[in-house]
Formats: sequence, structure tokens, C-alpha cells
Amino acid sequence: MRLGKTNLEVNKNGFGALPIQRRNEKDSIEILKTAYDNGINFYDTARFYTDSEEKLGKAFKNIREDIYIATKTGMESPEEFWKDLETSLKELKTDYIDLYQFHNISFCPKKDDELYKAMLEAKNQGLINHIGITTHKITIAHEALESRLYETLQYPFSYLSGSDELEIVKKCEKLDVGFIAMKAMGGGLLKNSKASYAYINQFDNVLPIWGIQKLSELNEFLSYNNNTKLDENLMSTIENDKKELGDNFCRGCGYCMPCPEEINISLCARMSLWIRRFPTEPYLTEEYQKMMDETQNCLECYACVDNCPYELDIPELLKENYKDYQNVLSGKVKL
Ligand code: SF4
Ligand code: SF4
Repeated sequence: MRLGKTNLEVNKNGFGALPIQRRNEKDSIEILKTAYDNGINFYDTARFYTDSEEKLGKAFKNIREDIYIATKTGMESPEEFWKDLETSLKELKTDYIDLYQFHNISFCPKKDDELYKAMLEAKNQGLINHIGITTHKITIAHEALESRLYETLQYPFSYLSGSDELEIVKKCEKLDVGFIAMKAMGGGLLKNSKASYAYINQFDNVLPIWGIQKLSELNEFLSYNNNTKLDENLMSTIENDKKELGDNFCRGCGYCMPCPEEINISLCARMSLWIRRFPTEPYLTEEYQKMMDETQNCLECYACVDNCPYELDIPELLKENYKDYQNVLSGKVKL
């Protein structure tokens, strides 16, 4: 597919390189090379994803020109922007980045902002080829599109998405902005990769970047292609998931953290979903019980809520999840 006005021709399976942080170097390189050998040519990473760039650099240093690398900076001052860019180039063992994106920053940089000028200067110097932005906030997504300054927009999109997200996808199509779908598996809560692929396959302008950390996951996506369409079975999976998850669920993005009470919000605020959608037993260990007990320390300061792109009532969600978890532990609720 063509990634909007960047004109990059990319395989419909994009590789999201956040999860390879959790694998050792040897395994990560094996996964990346297998992805490349099977036609995946777009790799999305970020300065923020610890050693992900370094692993990409090691895996691809000899075939740099055969792939597209997208990375990101979350820095908000030109000085820090340049430092990040320099580090990314070094870690990626390259002298250019195909797509450089502002990473979930608190505002949408415009033409006259020093930060955008730095981005443009990097492009003029040939250090980056295309300019993109990633955000979880719908207001920033619209602002970015209306500014006409960005060649791609990275935004959460999956079969759980509603009309607001669909409107963004359409707007991108109209403006010829490449739409990169993050969290296309609902932040880890969707289990059916075929349904996820088939849903996104309906949109010619949407490139999903699957967060892959195992060869088995990679192989699932590699087994799908343009003929993978939504059928009755997949539609019913989607309908069931929509019913089960609703709108009011934590996507696990972690933007609300750290919490001053060190509550693991992204895990605890969706514990009820984990224990229902995946095998329950692993979540009932002492370690998880302790983590859930810590939610009782919530001060209801609401500091986290201000940072949640989905405007979830986090203290309330924590309470609901804790109560449900205790009921499951005591056997009052049987799963
Ligand atoms: S409201 Fe609770 S969970 Fe959120 S930051 Fe405050 S203490 Fe942490
Ligand atoms: S509560 Fe909101 S910000 Fe925090 S992890 Fe969940 S979706 Fe993300």
C-alpha cells in the first residue's frame, strides 16, 4: 500500500517495535530478520522505547536502504529534539530516518513553532525524509490534519474504534495523509489477530503497526494477506468483543503514570478484563494480589485522569476492578 503523501510503498503489515524491548537482543534480531525476509518493510520505533532502536540498528545495518524506519521524539524543545535525533541516528546505525514523528507531545507544533522549525530543518539537512505526528488526543489529531504540515498521523485504531476515529481515517484519506494505526489489537486486549487484520484490511489508507514480540505472533500476521476479509465468523467475534469491552475500558497506554502512590494503573484498571479474556490463574499470584491491594492507596488526587487520553474515571475503575478481583479470589464470582 501507499502511505499517503509520503509515497512510501509499504507492506500492509507494519512492524511495531515497542514490544521487542522485552526480548533479548538475539531473539529480537531473529524476529526482525524473519519479518524482513517475509516482506515486512516498515518498522516503527521510538527514542522512548529503550533499546528498540539499537536492536533495529543491529538487525538492519546491512540492508538499510531496503526498509523504511519510522521513529519518534517526545521532546518539546529544539535543543532536546536535536539531541534525540542524533541519538536515534546513532542507535539505528544510519544517517537518515524515513519518517520522524512527534511522539504524543502536549501540543501540535505549527509552522511558526521553534519545534516544528527544527523538524523542517532536519528534513532540509536530509536527516529525515518525512514528517509525522503521533497522538492519542482527538483534538491534536484534527489540529495536525488541519495544519497540513504532517505527512502521516499515527493514532489508535482497531475494530473497537467508533465514529470519531473513523472520521479521522476518512479525513486522512481526503488529505492524502498516511494513517498509521497504533493499538490495532486494542492495547493487548484483542485476541483474534485475523479479525483485527481483516477489519483494517478494509481501509486502503490505514497501515497497522502490529506490536510483535514473538515469532508465533509474527507468523500469524504473515499468514494474512489481501484476501483476508471479514466473514460472518470474524464479524461475530468483533460484535462479541465490542459488547464485552464497551467504551469505558483502559487501553493500557500508560500515559497516566507514574502515580504518586506507585499504583500500576495500566494493569490494575483492566484486571477484570485480563482475568476474563486470558487464563485467570496467572493473575491470581501473590505478586498480582499485592499489586491490586496497592490500589487501595489511591488518594483520588485525579492527577492521572488529566493525562488519560480516553478521559476515564481512573479512581472509579480501580475500585471496580479491585472489588471484582476480590470476588474472584474469594470464589464469590466464578469465571
Ligand atoms: S487518583 Fe489515585 S491512581 Fe490516580 S494518580 Fe492519584 S493516587 Fe494515583
Ligand atoms: S487509564 Fe487511561 S491513560 Fe491510563 S493506561 Fe488506561 S487508557 Fe491509558
